[in-house]
Amino acid sequence: MDEQDNCIFCKIIREEIPAQKIYEDDDIIAFNDINPAAPVHFLIIPRIHVASLLACDETHQQVLGKMLLLAPTLAKEQGCTDGFRTIINTGRVGGQEVYHLHIHVIGSKTRLPAMIHKD
Ligand code: 5GP
Ligand code: ZN
Repeated sequence: MDEQDNCIFCKIIREEIPAQKIYEDDDIIAFNDINPAAPVHFLIIPRIHVASLLACDETHQQVLGKMLLLAPTLAKEQGCTDGFRTIINTGRVGGQEVYHLHIHVIGSKTRLPAMIHKD
C-alpha cells in the first residue's frame, strides 16, 4: 500500500472525502481547515503527495513557489485585507499532524496572537 492511499489530503484531492475548496488548478488545491483557528483559515496543498518540507527536494521547487505565491492572492480573496499568517508545521517537533505538505493561511480582522515571542 502506498503512503497516499490512506492520506487524508490525498482523499480530499481524489474527492473521496468532502472539503470546502476555495481554489484548484492542475498542481494545487486550497480548502478551508475543518477546525479553523481564526475567521479565515485555509490550507494550500500540492496535488502530488509529499509528506512534509523535509521530504521536498529540488523537484518540488516550482510547486513550492506556486503555493507560496497563491497565499496572498487567496488570502485577499478570503477577506484578509490587512495581512495574514502563513504556517508550515514540519515533522514531530514542528507539531505536524497531517503528513501531506500544506501551508496554513490564517487571518482575522484583528491582530493574531503572538506565536514566537510574547507581545
Ligand atoms: P498540521 O498540524 O498537520 O499542520 O495541520 C493539519 C490541519 O489539517 C489541522 O489544522 C486540521 O484541522 C486540518 N484537518 C485535518 N483533517 C482535515 C480534514 O479532513 N479536512 C479539512 N478540511 N481539514 C483537516
Ligand atoms: Zn497525501
